Amino acid sequence: MFDVHAHLTDEAIYSDLDNVLKSARESGVSRFVIPAYSPLFWERAKMISENNEDVYFAVGVHPLFLSDKEPEGLREELIRHPKCLAVGEVGLDAFPPDADMDLQRSWFAREAAFAAERDKPLILHCRRAYSDLLELLKAQFAVKPVRFVLHSCSCSKEEAKAFLDMGAFVSFSGTLTRTNARKAKELARYVPKDKVLLETDSPYIGTNNVRPPDVRPAQVMEVAEAYAEITGSTLEEVGIFTDKNAERFFVL
Ligand SMILES: [Zn+2]
Repeated sequence: MFDVHAHLTDEAIYSDLDNVLKSARESGVSRFVIPAYSPLFWERAKMISENNEDVYFAVGVHPLFLSDKEPEGLREELIRHPKCLAVGEVGLDAFPPDADMDLQRSWFAREAAFAAERDKPLILHCRRAYSDLLELLKAQFAVKPVRFVLHSCSCSKEEAKAFLDMGAFVSFSGTLTRTNARKAKELARYVPKDKVLLETDSPYIGTNNVRPPDVRPAQVMEVAEAYAEITGSTLEEVGIFTDKNAERFFVL
């Protein structure tokens, strides 16, 4: 099983990284992607990937961390690293009342162009701004299309349709495991199976059994079980096709 979104760089996990990876591997997680969302974590993500064959990383600046300073030239250097698979996580977040959406939009347009120019996919974070995100992606597609995944997607299936028409991948997280997650379950049944990825967003998104900040990549198995049950698949089938999807998405 592939955890396409695990914050192995963040203290809750990093402070016990070897044990976290060991127990995830024992649970059946075979590959991990670190979306290094702030320049403060980029070098650490690279180092973890170099030390662990089954760990990959992405570089980007999360919409709520735009003031973190980006060392000049570092992004250009890292995007050429053989274990750097994507640009992310980047996107739009209108949740905080004081969010500067103009700044987020212009920043995101640059991130999308950067990914497209280098033929790397985008790992997208979005809260309460799906229509803006769609508009910005369309503007990028008019110049050059880019592969993208909606990470821990919280949109309705109606909202998802426009993104799927543009080739979106959708990644499901612990939200799917909660008994009251009606919207996420509906979306899981709606997204074509060749576009589904699985993730934990560890340590941040809780599952039915584990609360943040205790969530670890091993919990991707709980997400996979929930997805299998919701869609009437077996766990084995889910493991096979989500692995293939991740390989296609990241070009592995
Ligand atoms: Zn994340």
